[in-house]
Amino acid sequence: HNHIDHATFDKTVAAIQSDDTHAHIPDYQDLAAYQAEGGYAKLAELRDGGDWKDVQETVLSAGLRGLGGAGFPSGTKWGFVRANEGPRYLAVNGDEGEPGTFKDRYYLERTPHLMLEGMLIAAWAVEAETCFIYMRDEYPAVLEILRCEIAALEGAGIVEPGYIDLRRGAGAYICGEESAMIESIEGKRGEPRHRPPFVAQVGIFNRPTLVHNVETLLWVARIMREGPEILTSVEKNGRKGLRSYSVSGRVANPGVHLLPAGSTITDIIEACGGMAEGHSFKAYQPGGPSSGLLPASMADIPLDFDTLQPHGTFIGSAAVVVLSDKDSAKEAALNMLRFFEDESCGQCTPCRVGCEKAVKLMQADKWDQDLLEELSQTMVDASICGLGQAAPNPIRLTMKHFPNEV
Ligand code: SF4
Repeated sequence: HNHIDHATFDKTVAAIQSDDTHAHIPDYQDLAAYQAEGGYAKLAELRDGGDWKDVQETVLSAGLRGLGGAGFPSGTKWGFVRANEGPRYLAVNGDEGEPGTFKDRYYLERTPHLMLEGMLIAAWAVEAETCFIYMRDEYPAVLEILRCEIAALEGAGIVEPGYIDLRRGAGAYICGEESAMIESIEGKRGEPRHRPPFVAQVGIFNRPTLVHNVETLLWVARIMREGPEILTSVEKNGRKGLRSYSVSGRVANPGVHLLPAGSTITDIIEACGGMAEGHSFKAYQPGGPSSGLLPASMADIPLDFDTLQPHGTFIGSAAVVVLSDKDSAKEAALNMLRFFEDESCGQCTPCRVGCEKAVKLMQADKWDQDLLEELSQTMVDASICGLGQAAPNPIRLTMKHFPNEV
């Protein structure tokens, strides 16, 4: 008995049908513009007799690590993949589903060829037979840009037709987990695999597969063109390199901010023009909901790989969310667990049932902290993948740092 306004409905359908991309395509650097500033010259040079070991050495000396969140040294990964007999594949993980993360979208909507050239350099280094790009469907503009620019690369003879296989994700957070992404590329339900074997050994269609995040590849192209110094020359708080922080929440200017890797939350808020008017800084999520919440009193930690482990958390994909005095840490933690409950693939009990139980317990006025801790430990110990293993972080950190709220 819902009231349906047919006129409005028909108009909406007509609008969608007349715009087959549904997307506003921003001004971005196309192939001609990218080549005009030297793009693809490095790739051509490497293909023409370059030694992959030199490239690996350059990438290692730049200190490049996986920017999807795991932080694994990129050059080392190339070595692992190459150590396995071909045919080998490359997969770009563009399923940027971590709440608060939007850096890959930011870059692809501006300079898509940096990622594409980085991908082709990495593919050349591991002799990949095909490059799969797994892109989240919630980024229609990015998909359209990639479609056009892959066709342009084929037209220019830089890649063979079909060498780059663009795939659309279907909105499952878990498909950002590399082995679930591979299952999805193979046409199966996106469920994480047990490891070992690792995807570098047994990946897409059981072939050795190099998986890289979008931003990691963009840096491969930049390092090869501009030299490892673009990263090694930046030093702050004892950390080297640059980080693309996706910043949202109660700051004046949210967005992607490229800052030294040793930046603290104080530096990040400053780069965002300070707190939003009427808000005072209370807490922050350093790297996606799996990283939980830290209090404002812990504002002097460099937000980089390895620096947050002693505090029971991690930088992940550098999705920073800033909370203010108007926000409840308890509500925020509950919201994070609700997200994991929704997005758990359901394959293993500790995560499927654990997330559900945690949400129920966290809805109480007063948390049963002993039981929540016991549940957290079970999930950490017994879940198959990172989702279930890290989901307890918001619970534990909120109990530790915001005891008065829970
Ligand atoms: Fe699936 Fe969660 Fe188990 Fe990961 S931990 S495999 S998301 S049920």
